[in-house]
Amino acid sequence: MNFTTRFAPSPTGPLHLGHAYSAVLAHDMAQAAGGAFLLRIDDLDQTRCKPQWEAQIFDDLAWLGLTWPQPVLHQSDRLPRYRDALQTLWDQGLLYPCSCSRADIRAAASAPQEGAPLHGPDGVIYPGTCRPTTPPRGPMPDMPLRLDMARAVALLDAPPSFTETGSGPDGETGLIRPQNMQVLVGDVALARPGMGASYHLSVVLDDADQAITHVIRGQDLFSATQIHVLLQRLLDLPTPIYHHHRLIRDEVGKRLAKRDDARAIATYRSEGRSPDEIRSIAGL
Ligand code: GLU
Repeated sequence: MNFTTRFAPSPTGPLHLGHAYSAVLAHDMAQAAGGAFLLRIDDLDQTRCKPQWEAQIFDDLAWLGLTWPQPVLHQSDRLPRYRDALQTLWDQGLLYPCSCSRADIRAAASAPQEGAPLHGPDGVIYPGTCRPTTPPRGPMPDMPLRLDMARAVALLDAPPSFTETGSGPDGETGLIRPQNMQVLVGDVALARPGMGASYHLSVVLDDADQAITHVIRGQDLFSATQIHVLLQRLLDLPTPIYHHHRLIRDEVGKRLAKRDDARAIATYRSEGRSPDEIRSIAGL
């Protein structure tokens, strides 16, 4: 079977036990299938990404016993590719400029007539403040851009769907058919200020260009997958198989964060733990 998967960390802090779990699981699954494991660096947010974190990622993953082909893809090298995809969507009348801040969105979404703000995969669902009634014409502006979700969904000949071989946070598995994305997801940002593209757009293009057949990642990204599948349809890209895995939590049940240094792989290493011990602490 053709099997290519990837681990795509952002170099914004030290890798922790949750990253180790994700990377080792993807690596093991690729090995078991006789497939390939790729490493990709998600470094679009240049204000938060640092070369020393990237060096630490390579070092920690090699220490865990993982290997991957060179060269490693960097998202920061791919801005023209992301721009071309935005242009394709713009030409279809699916994007509009919007410079609302997060605070603007929260305020508009919780305006009295709107009721309590509804949360989607990207936080508060965009209340549509800047959405035009007809698609904007003319050249694509160099501004933050949002996807007109209602128009996008209406353009598809069939609703998006994907196969989940792991499970979502509520046990979702098998063939997943997202519903009512205009309301439950809303107009997601596809070009963000200072970043060229949003995570959703870049991940979809990277996975397609790297011929990823299996996306293995944490359940925190399950709800974003419907956006990825929709973008694949709009951009005529293949949909990989998705495998979302459980999250590693701390003793009070909170998901580990980058700042959670106690569970950084580097901390375990400095305490003299072995890669096998890390596997067993992570429950692999
Ligand atoms: N850079 C993303 C993260 O660390 C990768 C997400 C993905 O695997 O799609 O959450």
